[in-house]
Amino acid sequence: MFGIGLGSLVKIGFRVSDHILKQQEIERSRTAAEKARLQAEASREKTIEENSRYRRTQLEDQIARDSVAVECPNCGATGNRIRRSSTGFCQFCGTAIQISGKGDICIADPVERERALAAEELRRKNGETVNV
Ligand SMILES: [Zn+2]
Repeated sequence: MFGIGLGSLVKIGFRVSDHILKQQEIERSRTAAEKARLQAEASREKTIEENSRYRRTQLEDQIARDSVAVECPNCGATGNRIRRSSTGFCQFCGTAIQISGKGDICIADPVERERALAAEELRRKNGETVNV
Protein backbone atom coordinates (compact mmCIF):
# COMPACT_ATOMS: atom_id res chain seq x y z
CA MET A 1 0.00 0.00 0.00
CA PHE A 2 1.34 3.41 -0.89
CA GLY A 3 0.35 6.93 -0.07
CA ILE A 4 -2.25 7.58 2.55
CA GLY A 5 -4.01 4.80 4.44
CA LEU A 6 -7.77 4.66 4.84
CA GLY A 7 -7.49 5.79 8.46
CA SER A 8 -5.66 8.93 7.42
CA LEU A 9 -8.16 9.62 4.64
CA VAL A 10 -11.02 9.37 7.11
CA LYS A 11 -9.16 11.71 9.46
CA ILE A 12 -8.60 14.22 6.66
CA GLY A 13 -12.27 13.88 5.70
CA PHE A 14 -13.28 14.73 9.28
CA ARG A 15 -10.90 17.63 9.37
CA VAL A 16 -12.26 19.01 6.08
CA SER A 17 -15.89 18.65 7.12
CA ASP A 18 -15.02 20.11 10.51
CA HIS A 19 -13.44 23.07 8.74
CA ILE A 20 -16.53 23.51 6.54
CA LEU A 21 -18.80 23.38 9.59
CA LYS A 22 -16.70 26.00 11.32
CA GLN A 23 -16.82 28.21 8.23
CA GLN A 24 -20.58 27.83 8.09
CA GLU A 25 -20.86 28.71 11.75
CA ILE A 26 -18.73 31.82 11.28
CA GLU A 27 -20.88 32.73 8.29
CA ARG A 28 -24.05 32.20 10.32
CA SER A 29 -22.86 34.29 13.24
CA ARG A 30 -21.69 36.98 10.84
CA THR A 31 -25.14 36.98 9.26
CA ALA A 32 -26.77 37.13 12.70
CA ALA A 33 -24.51 40.02 13.72
CA GLU A 34 -25.31 41.82 10.49
CA LYS A 35 -29.01 41.23 11.02
CA ALA A 36 -28.77 42.55 14.58
CA ARG A 37 -26.87 45.59 13.35
CA LEU A 38 -29.51 46.31 10.71
CA GLN A 39 -32.28 45.87 13.27
CA ALA A 40 -30.55 48.24 15.68
CA GLU A 41 -30.13 50.76 12.89
CA ALA A 42 -33.79 50.47 11.88
CA SER A 43 -34.96 50.89 15.45
CA ARG A 44 -32.66 53.88 15.89
CA GLU A 45 -34.12 55.47 12.75
CA LYS A 46 -37.62 54.70 13.98
CA THR A 47 -36.90 56.42 17.30
CA ILE A 48 -35.54 59.49 15.52
CA GLU A 49 -38.60 59.58 13.28
CA GLU A 50 -40.95 59.16 16.25
CA ASN A 51 -39.18 61.92 18.15
CA SER A 52 -39.41 64.30 15.24
CA ARG A 53 -43.08 63.43 14.72
CA TYR A 54 -43.66 64.08 18.43
CA ARG A 55 -41.91 67.45 18.21
CA ARG A 56 -43.99 68.34 15.14
CA THR A 57 -47.19 67.44 16.96
CA GLN A 58 -46.09 69.48 19.98
CA LEU A 59 -45.43 72.43 17.69
CA GLU A 60 -48.79 72.06 15.95
CA ASP A 61 -50.59 71.81 19.29
CA GLN A 62 -48.81 74.90 20.52
CA ILE A 63 -49.75 76.80 17.39
CA ALA A 64 -53.38 75.71 17.75
CA ARG A 65 -53.38 76.81 21.39
CA ASP A 66 -51.67 80.10 20.72
CA SER A 67 -53.61 81.05 17.64
CA VAL A 68 -57.01 82.63 17.37
CA ALA A 69 -59.71 82.36 14.73
CA VAL A 70 -59.68 85.69 12.99
CA GLU A 71 -62.38 87.43 11.03
CA CYS A 72 -60.58 89.58 8.52
CA PRO A 73 -61.17 93.26 9.37
CA ASN A 74 -60.86 94.09 5.68
CA CYS A 75 -62.93 91.49 3.79
CA GLY A 76 -64.75 89.72 6.63
CA ALA A 77 -63.40 86.25 5.72
CA THR A 78 -63.46 83.82 8.65
CA GLY A 79 -61.05 81.00 7.66
CA ASN A 80 -57.91 82.58 9.14
CA ARG A 81 -56.00 81.45 12.23
CA ILE A 82 -53.26 83.73 13.47
CA ARG A 83 -51.00 83.39 16.48
CA ARG A 84 -51.37 85.74 19.40
CA SER A 85 -48.79 88.53 19.56
CA SER A 86 -48.04 88.17 15.88
CA THR A 87 -49.05 89.37 12.47
CA GLY A 88 -50.55 87.09 9.86
CA PHE A 89 -52.12 87.53 6.50
CA CYS A 90 -55.70 87.03 5.39
CA GLN A 91 -55.75 84.00 3.10
CA PHE A 92 -58.37 85.69 0.98
CA CYS A 93 -57.42 89.34 0.55
CA GLY A 94 -53.83 89.32 1.87
CA THR A 95 -54.43 92.01 4.47
CA ALA A 96 -51.84 91.99 7.25
CA ILE A 97 -53.71 91.36 10.49
CA GLN A 98 -52.09 92.03 13.82
CA ILE A 99 -53.12 90.04 16.89
CA SER A 100 -52.30 91.31 20.36
CA GLY A 101 -51.32 89.03 23.22
CA LYS A 102 -54.92 89.26 24.44
CA GLY A 103 -56.23 88.27 21.01
CA ASP A 104 -57.39 91.72 19.88
CA ILE A 105 -57.52 92.06 16.11
CA CYS A 106 -56.50 95.03 14.02
CA ILE A 107 -55.12 95.77 10.56
CA ALA A 108 -51.34 95.94 10.89
CA ASP A 109 -49.60 99.23 10.20
CA PRO A 110 -47.25 99.30 7.18
CA VAL A 111 -44.10 98.83 9.28
CA GLU A 112 -45.51 95.76 11.03
CA ARG A 113 -46.73 94.47 7.67
CA GLU A 114 -43.21 94.69 6.21
CA ARG A 115 -41.74 93.00 9.28
CA ALA A 116 -44.25 90.16 9.06
CA LEU A 117 -43.67 89.73 5.33
CA ALA A 118 -39.92 89.52 5.92
CA ALA A 119 -40.42 86.96 8.70
CA GLU A 120 -42.68 84.89 6.47
CA GLU A 121 -40.15 85.06 3.64
CA LEU A 122 -37.44 83.86 6.04
CA ARG A 123 -39.60 80.97 7.24
CA ARG A 124 -40.28 79.93 3.67
CA LYS A 125 -36.55 80.08 2.86
CA ASN A 126 -35.83 77.85 5.85
CA GLY A 127 -38.30 75.34 4.45
CA GLU A 128 -40.79 75.55 7.28
CA THR A 129 -44.19 74.42 6.14
CA VAL A 130 -46.22 75.17 9.26
CA ASN A 131 -48.69 77.93 8.50
CA VAL A 132 -49.24 80.31 11.33
ZN1 LIG B 1 -59.38 89.47 4.11
